[in-house]
Amino acid sequence: MRLSRYFMPTLKETPSEAQIVSHRLMLRAGMVRQATAGIYSWLPLGFKVLKKIEQIVREEQDRAGAHELLMPTIQPADLWRESGRYDDYGKEMLRITDRHDRDMLFGPTNEELITDIFRFYVKSYKDVPQLLYHIQWKFRDEVRPRFGVMRGREFLMKDAYSFDIDYAASKHSYNKMFLAYLRTFERMGLKAIPMRADTGPIGGDLSHEFIILAETGESQVFCDKQWMEIDLAGDNVDYDSDLDPRVTELTNIYAATDEMHDPAACPVGEADLITARGIEVGHIFNFGTKYSAAMKAEVQTPDSSQVPVMMGSYGIGVSRLVGGIIEASHDDAGIVWPDQVAPFGAAVINLRQGDDKTDAACEDAYAKLKAAGVDPLYDDRNERAGGKFADMDLIGLPWQLIIGPRGVANGVVELKRRATGERQELSLDAALQQIIG
Ligand code: ATP
Ligand code: MG
Repeated sequence: MRLSRYFMPTLKETPSEAQIVSHRLMLRAGMVRQATAGIYSWLPLGFKVLKKIEQIVREEQDRAGAHELLMPTIQPADLWRESGRYDDYGKEMLRITDRHDRDMLFGPTNEELITDIFRFYVKSYKDVPQLLYHIQWKFRDEVRPRFGVMRGREFLMKDAYSFDIDYAASKHSYNKMFLAYLRTFERMGLKAIPMRADTGPIGGDLSHEFIILAETGESQVFCDKQWMEIDLAGDNVDYDSDLDPRVTELTNIYAATDEMHDPAACPVGEADLITARGIEVGHIFNFGTKYSAAMKAEVQTPDSSQVPVMMGSYGIGVSRLVGGIIEASHDDAGIVWPDQVAPFGAAVINLRQGDDKTDAACEDAYAKLKAAGVDPLYDDRNERAGGKFADMDLIGLPWQLIIGPRGVANGVVELKRRATGERQELSLDAALQQIIG
């Protein structure tokens, strides 16, 4: 992409309404624009990151054997009357009436809708287990929308739902999601720790919140420092055979949210206990038959009796993650994207736009990066070098390839790694080799 033709409206001034660093940086980098409180438009740069995160989530859901579908944002109130949540949900639910005076709502979550789909089609134990998910916009009329996309009113969530014949099987589905979540967040360059959590209004007995540590986090959390060393990226866990012992092992390493943490009963000594603030990026629940019993989603067992299907639900805050990743990875100059979610793979910075030889060298580098699939952003604007450096540091692409007349005369370019600030002078080919890896 040529920056001179792109739509990336960066701001010099820090917008005064933004209280935390990720919100400030997202506004300054031209990633989002607030439409009204807690509701945002995603501008091209922000939208690219959102889609990258969404894709990692999708790939790990698919790997765990979940099937993607797409449910609507608008739902009929009647389904929520069946489950009993229409009145319980309160003011967070945006209630709408259509032209025929029918009660509708903008979905804050989808347990009712998916249970309705399941009960219509599935009647036998032979057709479970089943894991279904979608990635769809939700609306919750939060009392205090704040921190930009981190606590919005409209936000993008991945929500998955499991259906099983009995508790043991549903625990296995839960474990699949548990492991898929650890892998998902690791692939985004995040350390997300699963914390035993209160099951709250969704109900049920088994629940974990996945929390990334950050000073601006809304929750107080406690965990064994062993979590800092867990690294599953290289593991090739088989989702069907050796999964359950692995998850049991992991869930035995202590981690708990404030509500669940009892200092008197905590098994970890003070020296090994991390006390920190954290941001919830995912939440998984096994809630048994709460919805299936109320909504009569029953399946026939091998001995021909009818039982309500056992369910679980599994959420990831896809849009919240954009802010969460920035909270976890930034410096004074701006965002430092982990390679896997960066909006572009590398920047090409032309230090003397209009100088024939420099332009030609930049075009050459740009074409080669494109051909290698790096998706480069070429800063070809007629601007001072200082302004270009500031903007490129702000938007935080992993690599900066800096090309100016002096280097071109000597047959070298400068390569800067954004995360470390390390700079090297080397030939274009050697630089490309490092970027392409
Ligand atoms: P929170 O305690 O932060 O309000 P929650 O318990 O209400 O979250 P869930 O219902 O479990 O959240 O939703 C699943 C995920 O969706 C959460 O883990 C979070 O990442 C994301 N999420 C929830 N509410 C919001 C919001 N208002 N804005 C952005 N993301 C959200
Ligand atoms: Mg909430």
